[in-house]
Amino acid sequence: MSKITGFLEQPRIKEQYAEPAARLKHYREFVEPLAGERAQKQAVRCMDCGIPFCNNGCPVNNIIPDFNNLVYQDDWRSALETLHSTNNFPEFTGRICPAPCEAACTLNINDDPVGIKSIELAIIERGWQEGWVAPQPPEVKTGKKVAVVGSGPAGLAAAQQLARAGHDVTVFEKNDRVGGLLRYGIPDFKMEKHHIDRRVAQMEAEGVTFRTGVVVGEWPKDTRVTNLSKQAVKPAELRAEFDAVLLAGGAEQPRDLPAPGRDLDGIHFAMEFLPNQNRVNAGDKLRKQIRADGKKVVVIGGGDTGSDCVGTSNRHGATGVTQFEVMPQPPEQENKPLVWPYWPLKLRTSTSHEEGAVREFAIATKEFLGKNGKVTGVKTVRIELLDGKLTEVPGSEEVHDADLVLLAMGFTNPMQSVLDSFGVAKDARGNVLAGTDEGSGYVTSEPGVFTAGDMRRGQSLVVWAIREGRQAARAIDQHLMGTSVLPR
Ligand SMILES: Cc1cc2nc3c(=O)[nH]c(=O)nc-3n(C[C@H](O)[C@H](O)[C@H](O)COP(=O)(O)OP(=O)(O)OC[C@H]3O[C@@H](n4cnc5c(N)ncnc54)[C@H](O)[C@@H]3O)c2cc1C
Ligand code: SF4
Repeated sequence: MSKITGFLEQPRIKEQYAEPAARLKHYREFVEPLAGERAQKQAVRCMDCGIPFCNNGCPVNNIIPDFNNLVYQDDWRSALETLHSTNNFPEFTGRICPAPCEAACTLNINDDPVGIKSIELAIIERGWQEGWVAPQPPEVKTGKKVAVVGSGPAGLAAAQQLARAGHDVTVFEKNDRVGGLLRYGIPDFKMEKHHIDRRVAQMEAEGVTFRTGVVVGEWPKDTRVTNLSKQAVKPAELRAEFDAVLLAGGAEQPRDLPAPGRDLDGIHFAMEFLPNQNRVNAGDKLRKQIRADGKKVVVIGGGDTGSDCVGTSNRHGATGVTQFEVMPQPPEQENKPLVWPYWPLKLRTSTSHEEGAVREFAIATKEFLGKNGKVTGVKTVRIELLDGKLTEVPGSEEVHDADLVLLAMGFTNPMQSVLDSFGVAKDARGNVLAGTDEGSGYVTSEPGVFTAGDMRRGQSLVVWAIREGRQAARAIDQHLMGTSVLPR
């Protein structure tokens, strides 16, 4: 344990952000990480609980009390080894994870939780600075070949684990750059993309081959989901060439809002809007980009994707941004004795919200209004919870002006045609059917075909994708070798 009375003496240190006026001028990260002594001061608060709920609340089961103590002891290299033993990419989660570990921290019962996420980020950034994050190529090659379809966090975590186990791994990605939603969903101001490039270089040195611009399976022509592929590979070719295939293609099918007026110009899915800005930031010259400059923007959907649309619209120079959420406004403070150590339902104000947005709760869209084929507004109705059902409030119709409407209501499932071309069984929600149990998990109905991440569990979080990628790698290694030393 770091210091017995640490949590009594040292308050939580919050990371500092650049002022909204300054950060809205660019797309770069604006969080000032806690480094060195400040991270150690944060770590001193850890009580090294007999039952560390943080460890259980973390989807990759990071060994949090141990790395907190090692940071406090100034043994950063051992802290990095501990962190890497459960998480391939702490620099991703240290930036964009909602940190369920902190919600589960024992201190959170009646105080501020330990700032676990900022300690995680401090450890991995120190590791990169010191040159401790080096390629770990396998000593022995197995001669087995594995194809990974999709280069999001699930595919990347699986590929790294499998390559380190000695297999020849090829990652197929339909888009032109590696990273999945880390690359083309999450805006640069939340996570700059050189963090992905650094890992890709490490993985290439470990023997992973990346084939970008290659779509595997049947991709529909009439979809608006980003597909920058120049080449297609058939599932049968892949299965003939490789000893195992991992499907880690995410869940990209967006939920639509088929209200009257949906076909007006100026109504787009969030994932038609966000990826293009990341591409422009990367230096691409696009023929056309959906822009919010000088526009009144309505974002429909109150989650993370909606919040990312708010931040991007404000950076474009929107004249106003309104975000709709169909559910009633949650409480500002959760009832801790009732919900701890679980993830609480409470009002979450993101840094993008702080930059400027009107947030409307308990509101539903009835119709899109337009003039000359272009959207001009959204007709809405207020909603209340009656007998547990969302019910329209009579006479509550309103019109909200809008020149740009962004639909950010989540994702229904993976691209069905891709799953059908592999012939894998699906669950009731249209995801690939596979469990997670040791011994039988991540296995699809097709021999030698595995699945992980959003493609199996539905749209989720980066940290869950990393967990599933790691566990699927172990399942594949066991399938190929009869046994595995890869951790679960
Ligand atoms: C806008 C947005 C913001 C988000 N913000 C956060 C956040 O802040 N924190 C967080 O934890 N989570 C966030 N998420 C969720 C998180 O990004 C995902 O849960 C996570 O990336 C899923 O990882 P994955 O590897 O399963 O799939 P993905 O990241 O979706 O990667 C799948 C990859 O497979 C490729 N692919 C698909 N089909 C094929 C095919 N047939 N052939 C070849 N390639 C294919 C896709 O192009 C894609 O690159 C966000 C999601 C979105 C949309
Ligand atoms: S629950 Fe909080 S205080 Fe307890 S070990 Fe984990 S981080 Fe430390």
